[in-house]
Amino acid sequence: MRPQDYQVARERMVKEQLISNGISDPRVLEVMLRTPRHLFIDDELGPQAYSDHAFPIGYSQTMSQPYMVAYLCEQLALKGNEKVLEIGTGSGYQAAVLAGLAKSVYTIERIEELAEKAKAVLRDLEISNVEISVGDGSEGWREFEPFDRILITAAAAEVPQSLLMQLCDGGFFLGPVFRNAGEQEIVRLIRSGEKFRLERLRQCSFVPLVRDPLDDGQNTTTENPSVR
Ligand code: SAH
Repeated sequence: MRPQDYQVARERMVKEQLISNGISDPRVLEVMLRTPRHLFIDDELGPQAYSDHAFPIGYSQTMSQPYMVAYLCEQLALKGNEKVLEIGTGSGYQAAVLAGLAKSVYTIERIEELAEKAKAVLRDLEISNVEISVGDGSEGWREFEPFDRILITAAAAEVPQSLLMQLCDGGFFLGPVFRNAGEQEIVRLIRSGEKFRLERLRQCSFVPLVRDPLDDGQNTTTENPSVR
């Protein structure tokens, strides 16, 4: 496909998948209109990049469908001056969109090869306000705390306390958590001093957040009743 064809595909994606499904934040729509999603997936899949589904990115991981990326960005309610931590860099596409919406983005990926690929694409796009680290994102990123927003893009059995403690007062955590019977829902946890207010937003389906090399992500029990 030629560059202008990709632009047409993005316009259709924004109109038919985002606006028609209720995404209305103009900043989110504008950034998704200009971010070349096809560069974050394998070349041969490029033309399909703007269709309404998640994409395999290798290593049994997926990049969320455009609507879900937009939904999470809209729910983050970014104005442009925030410091955001993302857990689960994956392809780097969500980080690229966040980069256009916030002041700085810190993103952690446990699979080194994915992190390296994402770094290369972001470098090619000259996106300079994203830092990528390899490791277990459940521990957060102490060096750069506190964060205005913390987003996880993989489903957690329980929201890691270490992450919540790296939020600014008034800041919030957003992301998918497992509920009973393996279902998932997106929750928001808003920090007020040492307390957190829970908002349950909607059902969803993400790959699991993996906490260590022995955990295959299938263990969905939780010790954190506040997110149930
Ligand atoms: N935001 C991504 C999609 C993420 S898929 C995008 O735009 O493409 C979820 C990613 O989370 C996967 O790449 C997976 O390897 C990563 N992941 C899972 N558990 C993790 C953990 N504990 N720390 C960091 N990354 C993790």
